[in-house]
Amino acid sequence: MANPLIAGNWKMHGTAESATQLASQLGRQWMAKGSAEMVVFPPAVHISSVASALVGSGVAIGAQNLTQHHNGAFTGEISAAMLSDLGCKYVLVGHSERRTLFGESNGTVAEKFVAAQAAGLIPILCVGETLQQRQQGQTMAVVSGQISAVIEQAGLDRVCDGVIAYEPVWAIGTGETASPQQAQQVHKGIRAQLGAPGINTSLLYGGSVNSDNASQLFGQPDIDGGLVGGASLEADGFLNIAQQLIEQK
Ligand code: PEP
Repeated sequence: MANPLIAGNWKMHGTAESATQLASQLGRQWMAKGSAEMVVFPPAVHISSVASALVGSGVAIGAQNLTQHHNGAFTGEISAAMLSDLGCKYVLVGHSERRTLFGESNGTVAEKFVAAQAAGLIPILCVGETLQQRQQGQTMAVVSGQISAVIEQAGLDRVCDGVIAYEPVWAIGTGETASPQQAQQVHKGIRAQLGAPGINTSLLYGGSVNSDNASQLFGQPDIDGGLVGGASLEADGFLNIAQQLIEQK
């Protein structure tokens, strides 16, 4: 059985003070250690202070991005080892904003996935189709192609050791969510693609998850948790979404 996981992607929001406050509030109120895992992804510059605020809380910390390079002349980049040094357990790889705004190809995403695991981080591989691709009936082909690119470089077993987040691009930050049936269909397809080694791989759904739709999404058999953007910026709302995951799993 896959681990229920609730992940909060804070994107490029917050100050040192607000990030620490949000983390402290989550840390104080997160009581579900054991039945589900919570992880937050603050902006990189706030990882240290958020990590300090979360000590002893059971809430894990992750990074929103990394470079595939180990070290060297890569001005402005942050390596997997550096993130690990800061206390990160997880790292997002191939978020759609990285793919579309920063031109990350499937190949680069795969290299990042490999680099993350080599440093002991758990990569959360983000995949998903655009609205146009969905309308053209290409959803599963796009999603499985994004996963295959990583399997080619990392190998199937290593991909199954990570986490996969299905995030339809048209649902991210738009307020529009995939229906529980649409999401389950894709998650089932991903599970089938991974085969037996993927039986315990956590598959997250992301895309405008909120307190009103979380329960139905998490009630689907192949949805093991959520990757939450906007709704993770407010502690009570995010904790409520996490609680709905616990109740469904
Ligand atoms: C995300 O950033 O991965 C995301 C799903 O954002 P939102 O929940 O705001 O759609």
